[in-house]
Amino acid sequence: MPNRSNPRLTCQSCGERFPNRGFEQPLLVNIGWRGVLQSHFLCLQCRRKAYNTFQEPLPPGIDAYTDHIHGHTIVPRITETEARRQYCLTDCHFRDMPHVITAYSVRSAGHVYKVKLYEERDIVRVARRVWGGDVGIANARECYSWQNGGVTYTPTPPVGIERVRRDRIRQAFLDWGFYFATPTLPCVSNYVNYGQGQLSRIVAIYGN
Ligand SMILES: [Zn+2]
Repeated sequence: MPNRSNPRLTCQSCGERFPNRGFEQPLLVNIGWRGVLQSHFLCLQCRRKAYNTFQEPLPPGIDAYTDHIHGHTIVPRITETEARRQYCLTDCHFRDMPHVITAYSVRSAGHVYKVKLYEERDIVRVARRVWGGDVGIANARECYSWQNGGVTYTPTPPVGIERVRRDRIRQAFLDWGFYFATPTLPCVSNYVNYGQGQLSRIVAIYGN
């Protein structure tokens, strides 16, 4: 029997009832207005409306910034696959979004692969509209994982130093010649995950 007094089942804005699990479930939204923080359980539609009025600031490391080590402008960019998996989007969400086309080659196989890179801040803005804010994106990740039998199907985007190194090497490869710093290259993954190697040397070796 459903618990009719459970506030998690009822949207506190439109008053409609929803399942307590899934993409539609009401989620706790904290919105501060003139120093007063208000918390409400809001459904997907009402979250979209609320966040349309009260825009969330971008999470750390998503917007463009100046790299304090190299002095370059870094624009965090992600691939289509990452946008799909980390932000629970489908092709139709970013088909018309601005992107750059990069390439990486697998010399042993003689192939050159093209990779579209999207600005992560654009992806985050779209995902927030689709899922109703950051709480909605986090919930969507859980829902996808739940649909897949609890498997972590939707990894969260990297944070901290790994994010910094990922964005630094992606920007360097892009600036060098529209190359993609694919994580399948050991020199790229070692730099991103362990800080191994010197960026300028890695880029120069790859570019030659
Ligand atoms: Zn509602």
